[in-house]
Amino acid sequence: MEKLKLGIQKSGRLFDDSMKLLKECGIDISNGINKLKADASNFPLEVYFLRDDDIPQYVEDAVADIGFVGENVVAEKNKKVTAVRGLGFGKCRLSVAVPKGVQYPNSSWLQGKKIATSYPVVVANFLQQQGIQAEIHEISGSVEIAPGIGLADAIVDLVSSGSTLFMNGLQEVETIFTSEAALIKNQQLTPEKEAILQKLLFRIQAVKSAKNNKYILLNAPNHSLDTIVSILPGLKSPTVVPLAQEGWSSVHSMLNENEFWDIIEQLKAAGAEGILVLPIEKLIL
Ligand code: ATP
Ligand code: ZN
Repeated sequence: MEKLKLGIQKSGRLFDDSMKLLKECGIDISNGINKLKADASNFPLEVYFLRDDDIPQYVEDAVADIGFVGENVVAEKNKKVTAVRGLGFGKCRLSVAVPKGVQYPNSSWLQGKKIATSYPVVVANFLQQQGIQAEIHEISGSVEIAPGIGLADAIVDLVSSGSTLFMNGLQEVETIFTSEAALIKNQQLTPEKEAILQKLLFRIQAVKSAKNNKYILLNAPNHSLDTIVSILPGLKSPTVVPLAQEGWSSVHSMLNENEFWDIIEQLKAAGAEGILVLPIEKLIL
């Protein structure tokens, strides 16, 4: 039987989350891991451990059928691959940073300046969109030291917390690209491989929907049941079960992470008590 070949970063910021996602999808690749690849024991998948920068090229060339890689790398490499979906990890932003104390009103400040970056393609696109001409210096690592050694006036680099910039006397002034890890695929998958990919995507979706949702149980006085039920979004409608105590019911439903605190407050105001919130492991909608 054919196997789908997945390329993931061999070490670095995306490795742990990539492996974790496979595990949460019930795919076991704990056996037979060597430096280059691993075979899943219970799913038609082979995992290749690669440098993240090479993943788009390998997927274009069908060395790997699919890959998990940062959207920033996909944009930079500009290969013929299809981005299928975001994976919800590896979130970061590509930002302009300038030395502390520099006034940066907007991107026109970059006109005529020297910019150091590891992402020359994304930066060139940005400058072109803004109608700005600037000199781009491509450097592959430690971009944040470039202004300090007089190599550049500004940098464009990946930021998550901003502490690296801070330690190097820089301030983040503008975000030009936001990124997360994405699943990309080769544009000519065989129908058999496409079918395996659909199975994998189904599992990823179940894992991701579960993460964004919580299971909620609460006790409600019967006279406020209508209000409480109307506050709860739920999958279809909430489950309502009478409690042993006269005049009370137990209500079970699901809440989205984003609206969570808002809704909890409304529920309390409507008379809900004993609110219990549980994580969901998988969710098939
Ligand atoms: P490799 O040796 O595989 O080339 P790398 O040094 O290019 O590794 P990492 O620093 O491990 O790569 O980052 C991999 C990806 O993780 C980035 O391309 C980006 O999509 C994402 N990422 C998330 N947060 C950050 C961050 N704060 N800094 C850099 N990358 C981040
Ligand atoms: Zn890299």
